[in-house]
Amino acid sequence: MAILKVARLGHPVLRRVAEPMSRAEILRPETQRLIDDMVETMHEYIGVGLAGPQVHVSRQIAVLECDAHPRHPDMTPIPLMVIINPVLTPISDEKATDWEGCLSIPDFRGVTPRYAAVRLEALGRKGERIDLVAKDFFARVLQHETDHLNGKVYLDRMDDLTTLCHLQEWSRFWLREEPEQEPE
Ligand SMILES: [Zn+2]
Repeated sequence: MAILKVARLGHPVLRRVAEPMSRAEILRPETQRLIDDMVETMHEYIGVGLAGPQVHVSRQIAVLECDAHPRHPDMTPIPLMVIINPVLTPISDEKATDWEGCLSIPDFRGVTPRYAAVRLEALGRKGERIDLVAKDFFARVLQHETDHLNGKVYLDRMDDLTTLCHLQEWSRFWLREEPEQEPE
């Protein structure tokens, strides 16, 4: 296993639409190793998700997990998941707003509107079909990661850039609880 280098905003790979993966490709040892490395990288940087383009791999693959996350203690945990070729369909027009950060945009946070609930259709790490409905924080993380696979970042989804802030100022002026200064 290895910790992978994370691409930062400005690297063209983050703006490319990633290529889908076939079942045969998913099952290859190098893809399985990539998945293990992406999980290790996500854990190393205490992220709740990581998409292929963020580690310079322009393929439709992302990992996510939120298990009693130190920065999201009140959130429903998300079990470790691998999603490949994900397609999201909003359940309704209802949107929710919350703060988002990104490993590829270190030291920033911004209020980002997202669909409150989405249907996810994807393949898993063994090529198995995933079809589920996600709500709230889970739905938010899925939208954030799927955006990465389509060349988008959360800044593109913000409708009011005046909330964009550095983490230190976010802790000082916006956060009421225990300050947190690590990037997500
Ligand atoms: Zn991100």
